[in-house]
Amino acid sequence: MKKAVYDDEADLASLRDGVANLEAAAEYSKTGPKRDRIPEDVKLLVWARDGGTCVRCGAKQDLHFDHIIPVAKGGGNSSENIQILCKTCNLQKSDKIGF
Ligand SMILES: [Zn+2]
Repeated sequence: MKKAVYDDEADLASLRDGVANLEAAAEYSKTGPKRDRIPEDVKLLVWARDGGTCVRCGAKQDLHFDHIIPVAKGGGNSSENIQILCKTCNLQKSDKIGF
């Protein structure tokens, strides 16, 4: 199921740009207790897998990486537990599991 799709330099560069933008947009999420950092390669994989859009509504702005199962509830930092959500969907999700 896991496929590396970034074997092309140009694609990798644009992925990195996307991730950098995502990081900037995620600044607001510095609330709550300390969150484990998501590894860079997992971010790239999730970004590529989810197409750089909110997995719920398809928004392309105010995106950030979301733990499907919150770290506080035992979720990890693997790509299977990370998805892209926009700010709106993330706020609606709160910390529910199985969103
Ligand atoms: Zn959304």
